[in-house]
Amino acid sequence: MALLAVDSQSLKTVESLRVWQNSQMAPCSRCDGLAQRFNIGTPYEYQSLVRQLIEVVNQGTFLLVEASCPLRDVLQPIWPGDAISHKFKCFACGRTFELFADTYHGNASWSIGDLPGPIENSSKPN
Ligand SMILES: [Zn+2]
Repeated sequence: MALLAVDSQSLKTVESLRVWQNSQMAPCSRCDGLAQRFNIGTPYEYQSLVRQLIEVVNQGTFLLVEASCPLRDVLQPIWPGDAISHKFKCFACGRTFELFADTYHGNASWSIGDLPGPIENSSKPN
Protein backbone atom coordinates (compact mmCIF):
# COMPACT_ATOMS: atom_id res chain seq x y z
CA MET A 1 0.00 0.00 0.00
CA ALA A 2 2.03 2.91 -1.30
CA LEU A 3 -0.36 5.46 0.17
CA LEU A 4 0.46 4.40 3.70
CA ALA A 5 4.16 4.91 3.08
CA VAL A 6 4.02 8.61 2.22
CA ASP A 7 5.65 10.97 4.65
CA SER A 8 3.90 13.99 6.10
CA GLN A 9 5.33 16.29 3.45
CA SER A 10 3.75 14.26 0.68
CA LEU A 11 0.50 14.06 2.59
CA LYS A 12 0.38 17.81 2.70
CA THR A 13 0.82 17.93 -1.05
CA VAL A 14 -1.91 15.38 -1.60
CA GLU A 15 -4.19 17.38 0.65
CA SER A 16 -3.51 20.57 -1.32
CA LEU A 17 -4.15 18.80 -4.60
CA ARG A 18 -7.43 17.46 -3.35
CA VAL A 19 -8.57 20.95 -2.41
CA TRP A 20 -7.32 22.22 -5.73
CA GLN A 21 -9.27 19.66 -7.68
CA ASN A 22 -12.47 20.29 -5.81
CA SER A 23 -12.43 23.88 -6.96
CA GLN A 24 -12.66 25.12 -10.47
CA MET A 25 -9.24 26.05 -11.68
CA ALA A 26 -10.19 28.21 -14.61
CA PRO A 27 -10.44 31.92 -13.94
CA CYS A 28 -14.02 32.78 -13.24
CA SER A 29 -15.49 35.23 -15.71
CA ARG A 30 -17.99 36.40 -13.12
CA CYS A 31 -15.73 37.37 -10.28
CA ASP A 32 -12.27 37.53 -11.79
CA GLY A 33 -12.26 41.32 -11.71
CA LEU A 34 -12.78 41.17 -7.95
CA ALA A 35 -10.52 38.23 -7.20
CA GLN A 36 -7.72 40.22 -5.76
CA ARG A 37 -7.22 41.56 -2.30
CA PHE A 38 -7.02 45.32 -2.01
CA ASN A 39 -7.29 48.05 0.53
CA ILE A 40 -9.90 50.71 0.23
CA GLY A 41 -8.58 54.13 1.04
CA THR A 42 -11.59 56.39 1.17
CA PRO A 43 -15.27 56.22 2.14
CA TYR A 44 -16.07 57.24 -1.42
CA GLU A 45 -14.21 54.21 -2.80
CA TYR A 46 -15.88 51.97 -0.26
CA GLN A 47 -19.34 53.22 -1.10
CA SER A 48 -18.77 52.96 -4.81
CA LEU A 49 -17.65 49.35 -4.36
CA VAL A 50 -20.78 48.70 -2.29
CA ARG A 51 -22.89 50.10 -5.13
CA GLN A 52 -21.22 47.68 -7.53
CA LEU A 53 -21.78 44.83 -5.09
CA ILE A 54 -25.46 45.65 -4.69
CA GLU A 55 -25.66 45.36 -8.45
CA VAL A 56 -23.86 42.00 -8.70
CA VAL A 57 -25.99 40.63 -5.87
CA ASN A 58 -29.13 41.83 -7.66
CA GLN A 59 -27.92 40.21 -10.86
CA GLY A 60 -27.48 36.95 -9.02
CA THR A 61 -23.74 36.78 -9.63
CA PHE A 62 -22.86 37.06 -5.97
CA LEU A 63 -24.71 35.76 -3.00
CA LEU A 64 -24.56 37.80 0.16
CA VAL A 65 -23.86 35.13 2.77
CA GLU A 66 -23.21 37.21 5.86
CA ALA A 67 -23.76 40.84 6.67
CA SER A 68 -23.52 43.08 9.68
CA CYS A 69 -26.13 45.34 8.07
CA PRO A 70 -27.97 45.63 4.76
CA LEU A 71 -25.61 46.70 1.99
CA ARG A 72 -27.57 49.81 1.19
CA ASP A 73 -27.22 51.06 4.75
CA VAL A 74 -23.57 51.69 3.98
CA LEU A 75 -24.68 54.32 1.47
CA GLN A 76 -26.48 56.34 4.12
CA PRO A 77 -24.89 59.55 5.44
CA ILE A 78 -24.27 57.90 8.82
CA TRP A 79 -22.26 54.68 9.04
CA PRO A 80 -24.37 51.80 10.35
CA GLY A 81 -21.57 50.78 12.72
CA ASP A 82 -17.90 51.07 13.66
CA ALA A 83 -17.11 47.79 11.98
CA ILE A 84 -19.06 46.75 8.93
CA SER A 85 -18.58 43.43 7.25
CA HIS A 86 -20.17 41.69 4.32
CA LYS A 87 -19.36 38.27 3.00
CA PHE A 88 -20.14 37.18 -0.50
CA LYS A 89 -19.98 34.02 -2.51
CA CYS A 90 -19.66 33.77 -6.25
CA PHE A 91 -22.44 31.63 -7.66
CA ALA A 92 -20.33 30.58 -10.60
CA CYS A 93 -17.17 29.35 -8.89
CA GLY A 94 -17.91 29.32 -5.18
CA ARG A 95 -15.15 31.69 -4.19
CA THR A 96 -15.87 33.73 -1.12
CA PHE A 97 -15.13 37.38 -0.58
CA GLU A 98 -15.23 39.69 2.36
CA LEU A 99 -15.72 43.38 2.42
CA PHE A 100 -14.74 44.84 5.73
CA ALA A 101 -14.74 48.43 6.85
CA ASP A 102 -13.49 49.86 10.10
CA THR A 103 -15.27 53.17 9.96
CA TYR A 104 -13.98 54.14 13.38
CA HIS A 105 -10.33 54.00 12.35
CA GLY A 106 -11.09 54.77 8.75
CA ASN A 107 -9.91 51.80 6.79
CA ALA A 108 -11.52 49.17 4.69
CA SER A 109 -10.50 46.21 2.62
CA TRP A 110 -11.72 43.67 0.16
CA SER A 111 -10.36 40.19 0.64
CA ILE A 112 -10.73 36.77 -0.87
CA GLY A 113 -11.70 33.68 1.05
CA ASP A 114 -11.45 30.32 -0.67
CA LEU A 115 -9.42 31.14 -3.70
CA PRO A 116 -8.89 28.16 -5.98
CA GLY A 117 -5.68 29.73 -7.18
CA PRO A 118 -2.08 28.56 -7.23
CA ILE A 119 -0.89 26.70 -4.15
CA GLU A 120 1.24 29.09 -2.18
CA ASN A 121 4.02 28.34 0.18
CA SER A 122 2.31 28.39 3.55
CA SER A 123 5.44 29.69 5.26
CA LYS A 124 5.02 32.99 3.43
CA PRO A 125 3.39 35.51 5.77
CA ASN A 126 0.18 36.87 4.41
ZN1 LIG B 1 -16.51 33.32 -9.54
